[in-house]
Amino acid sequence: MQDEFEWIESITPKQNHQPTLIEGIGDDAALIRSEAGFDDILCVDTLVENVHFSRKTMTPYQIGHKALAVNISDVAAMGGTPRFYLVSIAISDSWSETELQEIYKGMEGLADKYGIDLIGGDTVATKGPLVVSVTAHGRVQKGRKLLRKNAQPGDVVFLTGPVGLSAAGLELLLEDRLSENLTRLVDAHQLPAPQVEAGLLLAASGYKIALNDISDGLASESHEIAEASNVHIQIRYDQLPTVEEFNHFTSDQVLDWMLYGGEDFQLVGTVPLEDWASLVQLFGEHGLAIHEIGAVVEGKAGVSLFKDHETIPVSKKGYNHFSG
Ligand code: ADP
Ligand code: MG
Repeated sequence: MQDEFEWIESITPKQNHQPTLIEGIGDDAALIRSEAGFDDILCVDTLVENVHFSRKTMTPYQIGHKALAVNISDVAAMGGTPRFYLVSIAISDSWSETELQEIYKGMEGLADKYGIDLIGGDTVATKGPLVVSVTAHGRVQKGRKLLRKNAQPGDVVFLTGPVGLSAAGLELLLEDRLSENLTRLVDAHQLPAPQVEAGLLLAASGYKIALNDISDGLASESHEIAEASNVHIQIRYDQLPTVEEFNHFTSDQVLDWMLYGGEDFQLVGTVPLEDWASLVQLFGEHGLAIHEIGAVVEGKAGVSLFKDHETIPVSKKGYNHFSG
């Protein structure tokens, strides 16, 4: 690559969105003004080539998009607004400068959509796979906490949209089974959309909500809520939102993707039953989807699936198959 100075210059945003940014890229560290009335949200997620993505199934632009999307999704799951991000990248010479800039363009596409500013990072050389680590900063109004430990027996369990699409898309890409009528699945894998608006609405509702974003699959994320809240989560198979594209696959395959696929970045959460109808109305007024998929009950911390008149335990991860 060209010298480091020129490289940093080439990825420095031409303009910024956030008025609280004092100094972005160019000094020892970024400087941002803190805001009265808000709590700060900070999170970091790292993508490693051939572990979290591969060049066979993702373009550099899509890799950048996803690296930022996973972080925005974590901010969304706290009911926050993303504001800033930093990028640490370990690069080998198997990646061209153009490809690296494409990675930054992928992040910028999403950053512009949400008005988020790139305010710094670090660049190191490696002989190993590409590593992209993104740190995101967001804010949430004081007192609005959408924590995993908030679930209580009697609550409705909800999802902001269908899950399993990303895993289906990955399989299509790996098996080279792309077709025009299945592009939604492939897009879900390559350009996932974090649910910031839904997270904000959930926070603004003021209800006691437990929330998680689906990065590791509905089963694993539901387990996290169940364990943090010490409750049992019952998911109803017939209430899981689906998409027309799933009709091309067996129902066992689809269920496996839904529970264990991950990377859909929808939000799964719980809300008291008495607030459910108003929450549905609030989402409707904002043109957003929200689906009831089950209930929180008393019992051993864990997750089960009600399917075909049977209650089946759902393991956290792994390949439980639901035949019949
Ligand atoms: P320092 O030696 O103070 O850590 P660097 O030379 O590493 O400074 O970085 C100079 C500036 O460029 C800093 O503002 C840093 O945050 C930013 N920067 C460096 N690498 C990246 C990167 N990969 N992405 C975004 N910003 C970067
Ligand atoms: Mg540095």
